[in-house]
Amino acid sequence: MNRLRRMMAESGEARERLERVVQLIAGNMVADVCSIYLRTPDDELELVATEGLRAEAVSSTRMKMDEGLVGQIAQTAESISIQDAPRHPAFSYRPETGEDPYHAFLGVPILRGGRVMGVLTVQNRTERVYGEEEIEALETIAMVLAEVVAADAAATNGAAPNALSGLAVRADRPTSLRGRILSDGLGLGTVRFHDPVVPPAKFFAEDQVAEEQRLLDAIEALKQAVDNMLASDSSALGGDPREVMETYRLLAEDPSWAEKLQEGVRNGLSAEASVDRVRREHRARLENARDPYLRDRLHDLEDLDNRLLRLLGGEESDKDAEIGGVLVARRMGPAELLEYRDAGLQAILLEETAASSHAAIVARALGVPTLGGMDGLTTMVEAGDPIIVDAETGVAHVRPDRSLRASYETRMALRSERQAEYRAMRDLPSETKDGVEITLMLNAGLRLDLDHLDTTGATGVGLFRTEFRFLVSDGLPRLDEQIGLYQRVIDTAAGRPILFRTVDLGGDKVLPNLNREREENPALGWRSIRFALDSRGLFRRQLRALIRAARGGPLSVMFPMVTTPREYFDARDLLLEEVEWSVGKGFARPSELKIGVMLETPALAYSLEEIADQTDFVSIGTNDLMQFFFAADRMSPRVSHRYDMVSRPAMRFLNTVAETCDRLNLPVSICGEATGEPLDALCLIGVGFRRLSMPASGIGPIKRMVRSVELETFQKDFFDLLNRSNGSFRKEVLALAQQHGVQLTDS
Ligand code: PEP
Ligand code: MG
Repeated sequence: MNRLRRMMAESGEARERLERVVQLIAGNMVADVCSIYLRTPDDELELVATEGLRAEAVSSTRMKMDEGLVGQIAQTAESISIQDAPRHPAFSYRPETGEDPYHAFLGVPILRGGRVMGVLTVQNRTERVYGEEEIEALETIAMVLAEVVAADAAATNGAAPNALSGLAVRADRPTSLRGRILSDGLGLGTVRFHDPVVPPAKFFAEDQVAEEQRLLDAIEALKQAVDNMLASDSSALGGDPREVMETYRLLAEDPSWAEKLQEGVRNGLSAEASVDRVRREHRARLENARDPYLRDRLHDLEDLDNRLLRLLGGEESDKDAEIGGVLVARRMGPAELLEYRDAGLQAILLEETAASSHAAIVARALGVPTLGGMDGLTTMVEAGDPIIVDAETGVAHVRPDRSLRASYETRMALRSERQAEYRAMRDLPSETKDGVEITLMLNAGLRLDLDHLDTTGATGVGLFRTEFRFLVSDGLPRLDEQIGLYQRVIDTAAGRPILFRTVDLGGDKVLPNLNREREENPALGWRSIRFALDSRGLFRRQLRALIRAARGGPLSVMFPMVTTPREYFDARDLLLEEVEWSVGKGFARPSELKIGVMLETPALAYSLEEIADQTDFVSIGTNDLMQFFFAADRMSPRVSHRYDMVSRPAMRFLNTVAETCDRLNLPVSICGEATGEPLDALCLIGVGFRRLSMPASGIGPIKRMVRSVELETFQKDFFDLLNRSNGSFRKEVLALAQQHGVQLTDS
């Protein structure tokens, strides 16, 4: 390491220095070959230095990003160690390099800030297996190389003839990336990474004893910070991330973690470099881990590594100091994201979707436009890159040109004008021109969402998704924790009604340590009320918590995904039993208990008569109902938008449901995501619904639509359209709405 450090610090041409580096590595690792490939602006990998391969190949051998073993490493950002490389299916033979006689191959990515800058390889004639230590050593060297190459390119700006001219340390071309919309909106700013980049100056420690102490101090400060977070239960989530934090604490106190970190420092690395090395190891293990529980723990460990790095760099407070920007991360936990709540983020981009679903809940609660599931994100952007996040259509424009930027600035100005307009409408009645009241309620899942009751003027919460609490902590919340959360929700609502929906787990909302069996069709499987009725302990605990949280006030509870009357009656009986049990234990009986059912399966639509006299209300979940109606998975982007709720069959069906509820005197509301879309909501009102529950962002646009429609005359023409048998229903309703002067769009 010391020799490497000296070599890197020497002056001279970058390529010559790299030549000396490969010689040094080959000598030290007893390798016959050592080569460095760097990424070019055209996304190819160019051989820039080699010991052992033919010198003529330098600068002329170029591989595509998906070509050969080197390409595979660059693409996956993972190290590869192979005993006999030529027999590997990904091996690509390049005669000009003269690599015929080499069998054993070890290649590691040269990574910086999550971006693959190149690949470092060693090869041996014999079919040998590289040991864990050798792999780690090469990864550490690659880490140092990344900084040197980046510093060199920055110093010469890629223009000087003696530098690695022409090689891309960053791509400067504009590019666009698609992602899944996790929280809607528009954002414009510069990229800031959630993962810190280790400054190159701190790769090696001058004084190992002092460095070890610095590391130990940082570990201590980290433990303290986690303890403080645990102690302050006043976090915006109302204690939701508590279990995550408790796991953190356990991990932070794990001696083997600290020991590993110290070992790196004892070997001459700086504290930052040692943490970064361990972090890479966790990342690599995470990437390969299948077991969901293990993945979660590795994810937590990686979070800890990141926190520690920030502490060492004195950056812990920078989040607050640095205001604005577009936050970019591979993945983020909800608790981590919450720390940015005062950071004024313009937008959030997440590379991976899986864990981001938890973060998405928080992102929505924070009201920050967020996209997830963006393959290759962290390798395509650099800190400081200008970026537009269009979380209305699901695209991020990296390094946009001036005209694109200008058009987004206009869109954003319009959007904020609209927001101001919606805020101004907050206290206006949600009433059609001819005086029909349309009740607008909020869909919520965290206490944070409840703040929108005040900002939007919603009349209450039409759907409180209680399982979010279960998902945020990846565990089963204790009784007192649940009581605490529900109480805070009830208190924040300050008298406005809340329809608590009991746990809806399974399908797309899987609890890693609970529902381990993989099902062929999870959306149709053991989920929701089916799962709850089979997990009595968990279900009863939740019902008990809800009753206790009501503290003698009113309580409304509904059950999700009910298919048969039997399921509904079983769930209802359990709730009633729990009420009696709680009363028997001296707790107050809810002053008014309303028990409802969610209509999410077509079958239940034809059983309403059987349950009507024991049901206080029905809430239609169109997200699930439409997925079953059209047999189209709501989670599959290929099919979820293929069928339209604004269509004759769906609207005729919903009209039947509205009429049935009306005939049975069953109060009914609708709470799928579609209720927040003006045209969809217009149709729902058209077929007879008067109570809609939606995400906070929908309330303004829907109220505006409602206030612009003369319902009686519109409805007459709407039914004429519905009864006809041809044409595109969506287009026809749109034309009809325009004809009636209904305000649907934002412009
Ligand atoms: C629905 O299915 O429409 C619904 C509101 O419930 P969720 O989206 O939580 O499944
Ligand atoms: Mg549902």
